[in-house]
This record gives sequence, structure tokens and C-alpha cells, in this order.
Amino acid sequence: MGHMDSKIVIVGPQGAGKGTHAQLLCKDYDFVHISIGDIFRWHMTHHTKLAARVTRIMNEGRLVPDEIVEQVVASRLEEHDWNYGFVLDGFPRTRSQAEYLFEGWNLDHAIYLDIPDDMVFQRVMSRAAMGQGSGFTKRADDNPAALRVRLQEYHEKTSPLLELFQKKGMLLTVDANRSVPEVYQDMREGLRLPPPKK
Ligand code: AMP
Repeated sequence: MGHMDSKIVIVGPQGAGKGTHAQLLCKDYDFVHISIGDIFRWHMTHHTKLAARVTRIMNEGRLVPDEIVEQVVASRLEEHDWNYGFVLDGFPRTRSQAEYLFEGWNLDHAIYLDIPDDMVFQRVMSRAAMGQGSGFTKRADDNPAALRVRLQEYHEKTSPLLELFQKKGMLLTVDANRSVPEVYQDMREGLRLPPPKK
């Protein structure tokens, strides 16, 4: 069977499983996983010039200005190492970021991982409590105050974004409040991807 060649964005609050499911899709179908949060965290670890512009914003749980994020996304996509497609994780988060993306790239699907806020709190706080030893990276902004700010901002910005994807007929909403295999199977079927090879 040939490769599927899909350009996918995955949207959902922190703790919804964006990273996990993006990685599963990439492992099974040779897409490239592009996590914007990871790119920013890389810059913070390496104390780059970009990090100096975004560290405080990120630690306060706010969104980095569109102009900075768009530059990071554009230069990452222009590397063009994603011949079989990509899964973009963490971008777009606003309607204007989505419009920016549509100007330059033809997206195939937007996956929305739908999960209630109280589940987000539960997942993120237990992840933060487990800390680094368990394989999760502890984030500077994993505290209740920052999470509350992020979730509020998230809801305000995400609704217009989902509307836009819906209008373009490319939105796949998945109930993310279930086990990873259940969510993943729904997602695969919704994307019309064949069962992965073992
Ligand atoms: P994430 O790991 O996706 O939760 O991203 C971590 C942080 O990076 C966010 O809390 C924002 O401060 C910043 N960030 C990531 N993606 C975006 C985006 N698309 N727009 C603005 N800020 C972003």
C-alpha cells in the first residue's frame, strides 16, 4: 500500500493527548510530528534569542504573539522533511493563525480532541505531580493558576478556530475522554486511514 500523504493539524487543550496521538499517527503512517511547544521548549533549554522573547509569556501560560509563532512554523515547514505528510501539534491555536496556515499550505484534516475541563485539570496536575522520573517532562507552567489562564484563553480562541475548520468541511471531532487505544481507533477511522501494519 502506498503512503497516505496527509497534512493534519491536531487541536485540543493541554492534557487531551495531542502529543500521544500525533506520535502514534507518525509512527504508523510515516508523517512527521511537529510540536510547536517542543520547539519553543528547545529554545528555552538552549537559551536562544527566541527564548528570551517567549520564556516569560510561556511561564505565565499565555500565548506567544502570532507573528513569532508563525515565523517558527513557517521555517519549520519550509524544511520540507515531511514528504508523506505532517501532524502539526499546537498550531494553529487562533483563527488568524489558521488563516495564515491556509495561505501557505493545503491542509487535509483538523482533528479536535474534545475533553471536559475537569478532566484536563486532573490529567495535567497528576502529570505535574509525577515529575520527570516518570518519563513526562515537568513544565514550568504546570501549576493550577497558569493552567486556569491557559484553559480560559484556550476556549475563547478555539471556538472560532473550530468554526472555520467546520466550514471548510475538514473538522474531525473525537471524544478524547477515553483510553488511548479507543481514541486512536476513532481518529484513524475518521481519517480513513487503513489499520496500521504490525
Ligand atoms: P504546548 O506544549 O503546545 O502547550 O505549548 C506550550 C506553550 O508554548 C504555550 O502555553 C504557549 O505559550 C506557547 N505556544 C505553543 N503553541 C502556540 C501557538 N500556536 N500560539 C501561541 N503560543 C503557542
